[in-house]
Amino acid sequence: MNQVSCNEVVSTIYQRVKALKEKGKPANYIPELAIVEPSKFGVHIAQLNDANFGIGDFQENFSIQSISKVLSLCLAYRILGEKIWKRVDVEPSGTKFNSLLQLESDNGIPRNPFINAGALVIVDILISELENPKEDVLNFVKSLCPSGNIDYSPKVKASEKSVGYRNFALANFLKSLGNLDNEPNDVLDLYFTICSLETDCETLSEIFLFMANDGIVPHSGEKVFSKSYSKRVNALMQTCGFYDESGEFAFRVGLPGKSGVGGGIVAIYPDKYSIAVWSPGLNAKGNSYKGMKFLEDFTTETEMSIF
Ligand code: GLU
Repeated sequence: MNQVSCNEVVSTIYQRVKALKEKGKPANYIPELAIVEPSKFGVHIAQLNDANFGIGDFQENFSIQSISKVLSLCLAYRILGEKIWKRVDVEPSGTKFNSLLQLESDNGIPRNPFINAGALVIVDILISELENPKEDVLNFVKSLCPSGNIDYSPKVKASEKSVGYRNFALANFLKSLGNLDNEPNDVLDLYFTICSLETDCETLSEIFLFMANDGIVPHSGEKVFSKSYSKRVNALMQTCGFYDESGEFAFRVGLPGKSGVGGGIVAIYPDKYSIAVWSPGLNAKGNSYKGMKFLEDFTTETEMSIF
C-alpha cells in the first residue's frame, strides 16, 4: 500500500474509533494505571520501507506492562537458546494471565512466557545470566531503537509492588515447585521493574520492527537473533499474546502481537510493518478496547493481515 493511502486509512479509522462512546476501563488493580486519562488514544505505524505515520497521542508515554514480556523473552532466548523451553512451555493458557491454577498441575512449568508465571521464569533466567540485569535489559531495549524514548518508571514499579500479592504468590509457588534459581524477591523486583517500562507508540512500533524483519534491527543492521527464532517468537505472540483472548485477536485482527494492561498493543506484519496502538480503556479480558477495534478495522480495510 502506498504511503498516502496508508496514512489516509489510519486517519479515517482513528477518527471513527475515537468517536466511539464505549472505551473500556483502565486497569484498576495497579493504582498508577487507574489514574491515566481514559480518553488518550494514539497510533503509530513503522514500516520497513520507512513510510512511518502517527496520529493522536502517539508521542505520549504510557506504561507498556506485559508488552515488555516479549522483549525479556527475546533477550533470554538469545542468551539461552532452545534450552529455554525446558523451563517454560509454548501453549496458550486459556486462563487469566496471573492465574495460579495450572501451575500446580503443570509441575511448575508455565504454559507460555507471556503469562505472569512464564515471565517470572524468564526474569529468573535473566538474573542468572546477566551481570547487571536492570541496566542490561534497558540497554538491550534501547539498542532496538536508539533514537527512541524509553525508560523504567520508579513510580509505576512502586505502585505495582505495593499491591502485587498475586505475583508474590506466583513467584513463591514457582520457587517451591523448583522452577526459580534465584530468590523470589529478587525475581519480583526485576519483574516489576521491567513491567514499569514506559514509552510512546512511535518508539514502541520502532522497537518491534526487528520482529517484522527476521530478527534484524532495520536501521542498524544488528542481528538480534535468527530468522527461525523470529518465527518462533512471532508464533508465540500470535497464539499467546492476548491473555485468554488470543483466539479472538487472531480471529478479528490476524496478526501476531502483544498487549499490556496499560492499554498498549503492538502488532507485527512480517516483512512489512509494526504498529503500536494505545488507549488505556480495557475490555473485560484486559485488552485495550479501542486498540483492538482499531487494529481489526485496519487489517480488514487494508487486507494486510497474515491470513
Ligand atoms: N505488571 C502487570 C502484572 O503483573 C502486567 C500485566 C499485564 O500487562 O498483562 O499484573
